[in-house]
Amino acid sequence: MATLSGSAYAGKYAEELVKNAKAIATPGKGILAADESTGTIGKRLASIKCENTENNRRILRELLFTAPGALQYLSGVILFEETLFQKSAAGKPFVDILNEAGVLPGIKVDKGVVPLAGTDGETTTQGHDGLGERCAKYYQAGARFAKWRAVLKIDATSPSELSIQQNAQGLARYAIICQENGLVPIVEPEILTDGAHDIEKCAEVTERVLAACYKALNDQHVLLEGTLLKPNMVTPGSDSANKVDHEKIAFFTVQALQRTVPAAVPGVVFLSGGQSEEDATLNLNAMNKLQTKKPWTLTFSYGRALQQSTLKAWAGKDENIEEAQKVFLGRAKANSEATLGTYNASGDAAAGANESLYVKDYKY
Ligand code: 13P
Repeated sequence: MATLSGSAYAGKYAEELVKNAKAIATPGKGILAADESTGTIGKRLASIKCENTENNRRILRELLFTAPGALQYLSGVILFEETLFQKSAAGKPFVDILNEAGVLPGIKVDKGVVPLAGTDGETTTQGHDGLGERCAKYYQAGARFAKWRAVLKIDATSPSELSIQQNAQGLARYAIICQENGLVPIVEPEILTDGAHDIEKCAEVTERVLAACYKALNDQHVLLEGTLLKPNMVTPGSDSANKVDHEKIAFFTVQALQRTVPAAVPGVVFLSGGQSEEDATLNLNAMNKLQTKKPWTLTFSYGRALQQSTLKAWAGKDENIEEAQKVFLGRAKANSEATLGTYNASGDAAAGANESLYVKDYKY
């Protein structure tokens, strides 16, 4: 019988998991999601007319990880497997660069989504086979946390109860396997923004999905103190005619969390989900300004909203690296301030930061 304390895992990594989850949730810091799979990063590189080679992927990641001053605003970076084992041009492992700056390396461990039979285009996430062995290997290589993305959608028939339950179970099974192998699991049930629904509908679905996730996590004996949640913000659908302000998004999002996320969870690390860089920062800032009960740190785990203007500034050219790193520093600092509710929007938002990054039916 595995060791439990109350209902939760209390095995050999328990203390370390709690310590690392708490460290990632340090106010003023957040996560850079740089874990795009080879296919996804290829699309990003194509947008700047850059070839999808291992070297170009490495150059982009090195640009981010070595941007002067930027790592002070980060507590973690999520990597794709290839990047976990890559080195800088000077021969230094990326893992060492991050560790020396006090930034925990993380790893994407899911293997993408597949259709869920009997549903109208809903999906479930695969990657449980051999997951324990892979987690052990990643821990050995220096990873200390993991990410698994489940994807749900809102339309006339979705999310179905089947997809809510399957995705919650999948996330919970992944989470306990990570904990048995020393990795803090980031639990990511992303509800896509696609659709014409209003913010109330998104709130209702988000609450239902999160409640199912925490029931499943408890059933699987997951140690909540050693986890992080990566949810969508509660917003109107991307085709909704009803636009709302940052304060309303903040209110509905925090209310959904209050109703469903236990206080034992140290941090909520939002995904940006296609919001413009500036919107993602302003929404997070509004949540942290909100005067209400918030037992968890509210911070960022942004992919697109931390990288888009940097990618454009770089444009695949060596001579632009310094400028691109300055742009990245600007976004990292802005989001750090947003975790404290002190971001001033009139500051130097980078060029292009207001551009929507929404892509229909987004595959990461
Ligand atoms: P976005 O911030 O681009 O939505 O991505 C974050 C992420 O890691 C999704 O799994």
